[in-house]
Amino acid sequence: MLLVYIEVREGKIKKASLETLSEGKRLADEMNMETAAVFVGSEVDGLASEAFNFGAGKVYILENSLLSQYSPSGYTEALFSLIEEIKPEILFMAATAMGKDLAPRLAAKLDVSIASDCTQVKVNKGELEVVRPIFAGKALASFRVKSSPVMATLRPNLFPLAEKAEVTGETIKKEADVGDDKANDRVVEVIRMEGNELDISEAEIIISGGRGMKGPENFDMLRELSSILPNAAVGASRSAVDSEWIDHQNQVGQTGKTVSPDLYMAFGISGAIQHLAGMTSSKFIVAVNKDPDAPIFKVADFGVIGDLFKVIPPLKEELKKVVEE
Ligand SMILES: Cc1cc2nc3c(=O)[nH]c(=O)nc-3n(C[C@H](O)[C@H](O)[C@H](O)COP(=O)(O)OP(=O)(O)OC[C@H]3O[C@@H](n4cnc5c(N)ncnc54)[C@H](O)[C@@H]3O)c2cc1C
Repeated sequence: MLLVYIEVREGKIKKASLETLSEGKRLADEMNMETAAVFVGSEVDGLASEAFNFGAGKVYILENSLLSQYSPSGYTEALFSLIEEIKPEILFMAATAMGKDLAPRLAAKLDVSIASDCTQVKVNKGELEVVRPIFAGKALASFRVKSSPVMATLRPNLFPLAEKAEVTGETIKKEADVGDDKANDRVVEVIRMEGNELDISEAEIIISGGRGMKGPENFDMLRELSSILPNAAVGASRSAVDSEWIDHQNQVGQTGKTVSPDLYMAFGISGAIQHLAGMTSSKFIVAVNKDPDAPIFKVADFGVIGDLFKVIPPLKEELKKVVEE
C-alpha cells in the first residue's frame, strides 16, 4: 500500500497534499499497489471525499479532540500507531512547513530513512526512486530508499494535480490513542500576519525584490504588481529581509523558503547561490536586473537588462490590460 498523509489547516486540505496524493496514485498504479490517504485531527471526516476524488481507494481518519490543532508529538504518535498496524510499503507527505516537521519525527520513531523535499519520484526496475536537490540545488541526487516503509516528502507546487474524479471508497475511522502525555506540544493559537497575505510557498506567482529595490517603500510597487495577478505573493532576497524592508516569512532561499511557483519574477536580485537554492524549481523565471552579468540571468527563462524602476510601471499597465481581457 502507498499511504499519503493529508494535511488539513483551518478545516481545509492543503493543495500540496492533493498534489502528493495525485503523484502517489500514479506511482501506486505503476507498481500495482493500493493507494490510501490518512487524515489526523478532529472533525475531518467531511474531507474524505476529496481524497477519494484525487486517487485514494481507502481513507483512514485518526480522530482525537486533542489533535484539532497540529501537535508534533500527538500527530507522530497517531500516525506511528497506524503505520505499525497497516504496514504500508510507501509513505508520502507534502514537504510543507508541517510536513517538514512531522515527517522526520515520524521517520525517527519508525527508525527508517527519509528522502525529503523530492522533486521527482519514479519507478525504476520495480523499485521507487526519488530525486532531490543537494548542495543548495547545485546538483540533483537520485536515491533508492530501502527502508520499510519507504518515506518521502514531495516538494509543493511541482507535481500536477490529477483530474478530479467523482468516486468514493472505504473510510476507516479510528480514535487516535493520544492522551495529554502523548500530545503535550500543541498549537494553542494561530496569529495571522496583518493584511492576510498569501504565503509565498503557496503562491502560483511570486514577485520578488532584492537589494536593487533600494528601500522598503519600493516594495509597494511589487505589492501592486502582485495584487493585479491571481494567487500572487511578494517574495524577497535575504539582503532585503536583513535590511528589514520586508518580513522574514517572505524570504526565498537557503535560509528562507523553497518555492516552485508557475512564475517567479526577480527584481534587483543578483542571483546568489543561496537565493537560487530556493527558487530554481520555479516553472518560469523572469529576471530584471541592470547588470547583464548578474547570475540570476543564468537561470532565467526571460531576462530584462535594465533599471527596474523604469520597467515596473509599464509592466504594471500591460499586466492590468492582460488580466482585464
Ligand atoms: C549561509 C547563508 C545563507 C543565505 N541564505 C539566503 C537566502 O535564503 N536567500 C537569499 O536571498 N540570500 C541568502 N543569502 C545571502 C546571499 O548570499 C546574497 O547575499 C543575497 O541573496 C543577495 O541579495 P540581493 O540579490 O538582493 O542583493 P545583491 O547581491 O546586492 O544584488 C542586488 C542586485 O540588484 C541589481 N540592481 C541594483 N539596482 C537596480 C535597478 N535599479 N534595477 C535593476 N537591478 C538593479 C544589481 O545589479 C544586483 O545584481 C545567504 C548567505 C549565506 C552566507
